[in-house]
Amino acid sequence: MNIIFLGPPGAGKGTQAKILEDTYGMVQLSTGDMLRAEVAAGSDLGRKAKAVMEAGGLVSDDMVIGIISGRIDQDDCKDGFMLDGFPRTVPQAEALDEMLDKKGFRLDHVVELRVDDEPLVRRITGRFTCGDCGEGYHDEFKKPAKDGVCDRCGGGNFKRRADDNEETVRSRLAAYHAQTAPIVGHYGKQDLVRVVDGNLPIDRVTTQLKEILG
Ligand code: ADP
Ligand code: ADP
Ligand code: ZN
Repeated sequence: MNIIFLGPPGAGKGTQAKILEDTYGMVQLSTGDMLRAEVAAGSDLGRKAKAVMEAGGLVSDDMVIGIISGRIDQDDCKDGFMLDGFPRTVPQAEALDEMLDKKGFRLDHVVELRVDDEPLVRRITGRFTCGDCGEGYHDEFKKPAKDGVCDRCGGGNFKRRADDNEETVRSRLAAYHAQTAPIVGHYGKQDLVRVVDGNLPIDRVTTQLKEILG
């Protein structure tokens, strides 16, 4: 099964993708994670993307289309993938359709995670992750069972993203509404869109997703 997670920053795309990876064996493909890895490695691509990401803008379509195209060719995508954070513009969606066609893949669902703007700011400013295993956490909504220790791997090396501050969140939300939301119409025409109420607690969002995915 191949799906797209669509939703504003902080909607819970990464959180749900990680939960579903274990249940369905689909791999999470996050362009945000891939770009952050390029920035950390100091590659040419990373150097180009860094300032745009820190300002809360979108990097160029060509850059992310190239990254995803290379990633989808890898073996672990054959059993299914979840696109998280891609596509983010209508041209990216069109390029993806063409790419999947050529590679012989088909999309099963485009899940739209709907969350109101106000709770998103709180979700993003309270977000942190384990630097060792990638598990996601939140200061209020998903604290580790033991303060300072990762539930999943026992590590204590937590990280916060440079762009997870209130000012940048506003730019990212504006980019979402202007450039990403129109994708819903694009996939609506293909009858692929399934709407999920992302305002609910994490486990109730997972329940809705499992109903859709079967
Ligand atoms: P979030 O999950 O909070 O929405 P991401 O980790 O998906 O954030 O993305 C972080 C940043 O990386 C974005 O604000 C943007 O600058 C860049 N980015 C990620 N995916 C894309 C994409 N498909 N197109 C353009 N820019 C992207
Ligand atoms: P996205 O990948 O869509 O940007 P994340 O999955 O990283 O969003 O979630 C953003 C933050 O909100 C994280 O700190 C996460 O723990 C928390 N979170 C995710 N889903 C929910 C939810 N349904 N209710 C409350 N907090 C949530
Ligand atoms: Zn961990």
